[in-house]
Amino acid sequence: MHTTGGRHFLQIPGPTNVPDRVLRAMAAPTIDHRGPEFAELTKAVLPALGPVFGTAGPVVIYPSSGTGAWEAALVNTLSPGDRVLMSETGHFSTLWSELAGRLGLQVEIIPGDWRHGADPTAIGERLAADTAREIKAVCVVHNETSTGVTSRVPDVRAAIDDAGHPALLLVDTISSLASIDYRHDEWRVDVTVAGSQKGLMLPPGLGFNAVSEKALAAAGSAGLPRSYWDWRPIIEANARGFFPSTPATNLLYGLREACTMLAEEGLEHVFARHQRHAAATRAAVRAWGLEVLCADEREHSGALTAVLVPEGLDADAVRRIILEKFDMSLGAGLGKLAGKIFRIGHLGHFNDLTLVGTLGGVQMGLQLAGVPIKPGGVEAALESLREAAA
Ligand code: PLP
Repeated sequence: MHTTGGRHFLQIPGPTNVPDRVLRAMAAPTIDHRGPEFAELTKAVLPALGPVFGTAGPVVIYPSSGTGAWEAALVNTLSPGDRVLMSETGHFSTLWSELAGRLGLQVEIIPGDWRHGADPTAIGERLAADTAREIKAVCVVHNETSTGVTSRVPDVRAAIDDAGHPALLLVDTISSLASIDYRHDEWRVDVTVAGSQKGLMLPPGLGFNAVSEKALAAAGSAGLPRSYWDWRPIIEANARGFFPSTPATNLLYGLREACTMLAEEGLEHVFARHQRHAAATRAAVRAWGLEVLCADEREHSGALTAVLVPEGLDADAVRRIILEKFDMSLGAGLGKLAGKIFRIGHLGHFNDLTLVGTLGGVQMGLQLAGVPIKPGGVEAALESLREAAA
C-alpha cells in the first residue's frame, strides 16, 4: 500500500507510462467494429503505423501480448521440423526459443553470456556452414529487455547476405520499436515482432507483425498449424478497413493517438531522446561506482539500463526499498540475473526531468539499502543532460 502523494513512477522497461493524451483517446465509446466509422479508424491507424516500423508493407495487428506476436511470426513462415537459428542474448531470447521448440521447430542456439547482443560473425559462420540450407530462419531479439543490450540488426543482415543464405530474418522489437532506431524495409527484415506496451506508450494488449514480401510468400507454403494467427485473412480484411475477429477497438484509438504523438516529435528525435537518457543513466551508474551489465559500448540500450549490484548484495532488496519509500517500480533481474541486477526503464513517455526523478530515487534507495556507492550519480546525469541541452 502506497502512502505517498504524487504519481507512481513506473520505471520498469515496459509496460511504460501511458500519456494522458493516449488515455483520453481511449476513453471513448466502443463502436461497431463492422461499421463505417471503424473502417475509418483502421484506415487511419495502419498507414500511421508503417513509418514507425520503417515499412511500406503490411503490419498485422493482433489483440495479444508480445508472446502471441512471437508465435504468429513462426507459425506463418515455418513448417514442422524446420531448423531455426537463435542467439542467446538473455531471458527473452530464451523464452522465444523455448516457444519455437514447443511448436515443433528444431531450434539451434548460439550461446551467449547475457552481456552481449547477437554475434553477427557467429551467425554468418553457422549459415556459411549450412550448405544444405537447412536453416529456414534466423531469429534475433533487437533489444534484450532482460539485459539492456541492443543487437546490431544491420550487421546480422549483412552476415546473412555475406553467407548468401536464404534464411528469413525474424526480429523481436518488443522493447525497441519507437524507442531505438529500427528500419524493417531498409534492413530487409522479414518479420518484425512488436507489442503495444513499451515504446508505443500504450497499455499491454496489442501484438504486431510487420511482414516482408518474402515472408508473405513463405506463408503460402508454411506447414505449421495456424488459424487465429494467420496473417492472410487479416491482411485481406484490413484492406476493407476491418478484422476477421473482434479487434481491440479502444487500444486502436490509443494507437492512433500514439502514432500522432510520435510523428509530431519526429522519430529521429524520439530515438535521440532515448539515447540521451541512456547516456545520462550510464553516467550516473558509473559515478556511483557501479557497473552497467551491457559489456559492449556499441550495444548499450537506449530503452533501459541494467545495473549490477556488488557481489553479495540483493538487487531485489534495493528495488523493494525504492518501491516502499519512493513509490517507484524498477525492473527485476530475470532468469539467471534474478537478485543480481535491477533495470531502469527510460523508454516511452519520458523526459529529462522524469529521468532526474528516477535517478534521484535510485540513488537514495541504493544508499538506504546499504549499497556502497559514491554519491555523485545524479549530478553526473545532470551534467550529461545539461551538455546535451546546451
Ligand atoms: N520480447 C521482449 C524483448 C520482451 O521484453 C517481452 C516482454 O517484456 C516479450 C518478448 C514478451 O512479451 P509479452 O510479455 O507482452 O508477451
